[in-house]
Amino acid sequence: MKYHIIAFGCQMNISDSERVASVLESIKCKESPGINGADLIVVTMCSVRQSAVDRVHGLVEKFKTIRKSKPNIKTILTGCILKKDRNIFITGFDYVVDIRDIKKLPEILGIKKTKEAKNYLDITPKYSSKFSANVPIMTGCNNFCSYCVVPYAREREISRPAEEIIREIKNLIKKGYKEIWLLGQNVNSYKDTNINFSKLLKMINDIPGKFWIRFTSSHPKDFNDQVINALAIGKKITPYLNLPIQSGDDGVLKLMNRHYSVKNYKEKIKKLREKIPDIALSTDIIVGFPGETKKQFENTAKLFRNVKYDMAYINKYSPRTGTAAAKLKDNVSIAEKKRREKVLTEILKQTALEHNKKFIGKKIIVLIDGNKNNNWFGKNEHYKTVQIKSGKNILGKFIKVKITEALAWSLRGELIK
Ligand code: SAH
Ligand code: SF4
Repeated sequence: MKYHIIAFGCQMNISDSERVASVLESIKCKESPGINGADLIVVTMCSVRQSAVDRVHGLVEKFKTIRKSKPNIKTILTGCILKKDRNIFITGFDYVVDIRDIKKLPEILGIKKTKEAKNYLDITPKYSSKFSANVPIMTGCNNFCSYCVVPYAREREISRPAEEIIREIKNLIKKGYKEIWLLGQNVNSYKDTNINFSKLLKMINDIPGKFWIRFTSSHPKDFNDQVINALAIGKKITPYLNLPIQSGDDGVLKLMNRHYSVKNYKEKIKKLREKIPDIALSTDIIVGFPGETKKQFENTAKLFRNVKYDMAYINKYSPRTGTAAAKLKDNVSIAEKKRREKVLTEILKQTALEHNKKFIGKKIIVLIDGNKNNNWFGKNEHYKTVQIKSGKNILGKFIKVKITEALAWSLRGELIK
């Protein structure tokens, strides 16, 4: 049987798909690069925004056409699924499988009896890259931010045993992996008996070898001094942090149920910059949360000017049924949400460029992750996209580069021989 996986959304989603692929290959299924050659299509969906859910509805329509010429094709839906959508999608897919149950796929497909189907995180994934690996350390969320479906779609937090995480990473390093992404909805609340996130970071940093450690996502309320210290001490932990603030206004943060104030957040950034002065910072923002006034939005703009982010993921608020915020009136117009997004992007463009200019003339290490013609692309430790020219195949390698040009969203440089 040939399978094809369609993944949406975040790195956790890609990581889930890598586990699905591994389960399918354990029953001798082979990957098909496109939908056309596949007998089995798995969709790993994302429910964070309605637009992502709508794309799955679009796929259901596409499957109807495919089924006309391929009546035996099987379709499976998994990933982040809300209960209400599960009932809707059960008519469009052959099977809807909870992500925590993907060990049962062989049994569901009628191929093999599965003895035990408890923890999906202990499945060894089929890594989609040969040099950068996604390693989930926890999954689920207990936070119930008022706008977010994740706690409903992924249930409560569970952490993986540290021993298992370390074993997986040691294996990856042995195989030559150069970048390890630790994943979780809130990595800061990682807990395995007496091992918390900062301890885990230290343990991973102690694994011998030349590799970079990155992680996402981090909830500011749980981002503490211990984690800051671990970042400052850990030579392999890259000087880049995504710390999603969501809004720069205390009133909005309260309605979002985020449990920190702007002052709190800024104090953490200050401490972090004292310990790691060159750290690159990014954040996530929601513009147009219900009731967000122009004045409240201005506080977010002010925060942007003040913190001077390197990058930001700016989202327009989208009401999600079942969440607490869905009961509030989505009263900021699309046009105004777009305007707010643009205002923040303009500030970000300036601050990112300001940071990027500091790299001109510097010799830095870049992990090359893609190419187009003779242009190679990669990321440096600060998670900046770097473009260089090379006639050689340098994919997946750490390359020394001299930076010659800085743009807002990327750097350009030349190979150092
Ligand atoms: N666990 C992370 C976020 C995971 S969801 C955290 O606590 O920050 C990824 C991003 O999607 C969020 O940071 C948020 O900015 C965005 N998002 C979540 N729900 C949203 C909604 N209803 N509308 C718009 N953006 C949303
Ligand atoms: Fe969603 Fe909040 Fe959990 Fe992040 S911490 S996944 S935003 S509920």
